[in-house]
Amino acid sequence: MKGFTDEPNYVVELLDGGTTLEDVIDSHIYEQALAEKSAFVVANLGALMQQHVLWQSTLPLVRPFYPVKCNGSPAVIEILAALGAGFVCANKAEISLVLNHDVPPENIILSGVCKQLSHIKHAAKNGINYLVCDNEAELCKIARAHPNARLLLQLSTEAQTEEANMAFGCSLKSCRHLLETAKELGVDVVGVAFLVPTSCKDSQVYTHALSDARCVFDMGEELGFNMEILDIGSGFSGSEFQLKQVHAAIRPLLEAYFPVTSGVRVIAEPGTFYVSSSFTLAVNVIGKKVVASDLHAEPTLNDDSEFLYYLNDGVYGSFVGKLLGNTIPSPTVHKMSLTADEPVFSSSLWGPSCDTLDQVVEHCLLPELTVGDWLIFNMGTSGQEESAAISNSDKPPVYYTISTGDWFEMQEAGISLDTTMKNFSLIQYGL
Ligand SMILES: *Cc1c(COP(=O)(O)O)cnc(C)c1O
Repeated sequence: MKGFTDEPNYVVELLDGGTTLEDVIDSHIYEQALAEKSAFVVANLGALMQQHVLWQSTLPLVRPFYPVKCNGSPAVIEILAALGAGFVCANKAEISLVLNHDVPPENIILSGVCKQLSHIKHAAKNGINYLVCDNEAELCKIARAHPNARLLLQLSTEAQTEEANMAFGCSLKSCRHLLETAKELGVDVVGVAFLVPTSCKDSQVYTHALSDARCVFDMGEELGFNMEILDIGSGFSGSEFQLKQVHAAIRPLLEAYFPVTSGVRVIAEPGTFYVSSSFTLAVNVIGKKVVASDLHAEPTLNDDSEFLYYLNDGVYGSFVGKLLGNTIPSPTVHKMSLTADEPVFSSSLWGPSCDTLDQVVEHCLLPELTVGDWLIFNMGTSGQEESAAISNSDKPPVYYTISTGDWFEMQEAGISLDTTMKNFSLIQYGL
């Protein structure tokens, strides 16, 4: 049987050596220009794999667990599962999605420090034993609902304190109390997790987090727990440079506190790292207004003018991340006739809903656009699952691609269409 009955079969276009992602985007824009000019997404599955290769060559001793919430597109799950990554799930739906891709339960962590009881029970029923915990109330729930749980204690880091984000993680002091309570309740603790946000530039944060983690390991071992997992969380932007920086910061500390000989398994939760460069969204400019920065002047074109552009996708669609507090990166212009030294103007970008919340980008500098032009956004997420959750807007179609070189590399890594990527079929691009 090929795939699951309720799973779509993904058509992936195989790009030969001479075809770039830009060519693919161009050709879809050309097609759309003759049709409805609808927004669309191009996914580069090779980029996903290349990020995995980069991870493994830079941090070979740290096993990645991908947080599904960063992009739960089944294509992403299937490829990362095939490459041997683990997964971090935040709820029942994400657990089911990952299990449906034949990921063994021991490669799944149920995250979130306050979980709905039914989700803990769902994890217990499916043999997902790794759970994160940072408070006593949660510990009591887990003791009742999940007798086989193997807990990772979530430790707070300084970076969170700086961002005034104290909602997650417990202090060293409360860790001791939690460990003792776990002991009394008969709940197993197997390690420590912490999160350093991607925005954190200070490698000192890792120094403190890792030495704190060592303290918790020592406390746990004192109480008789077999402490064997260290989860260094996320904080990886996706760039090779930044990954190497983090590696340089943590390597001596890992060697000192958690040497390979200690038998401790080190894992991480890179999300953005994997998907930031693999999804590209193309949207069409459907409307345009000029506002003069001097309100009394006639809105004529001068250097002070600001342009408002309306797009055919907005925050109730692919840009839902904006509503969730993320900054949408400025787009690039896809314009056949763009010359290098065109003047740029202050511009703002709006979705199609006429809702004041539907502002995609508050301010960016763009050459003057006309209705019918296309803008290209590097998305990271397809925005699809989230937008489906809050609205029933039409989802832009996703065109999956992989270069021939990347596909060969994947096959060399032991991935094949028949076994590991059952929901895919490959076709030659352009045929
Ligand atoms: C979102 C999330 C991550 C990933 O964060 P990135 O900065 O996108 O890598 C990791 N772990 C958990 C529990 C998350 O919720």
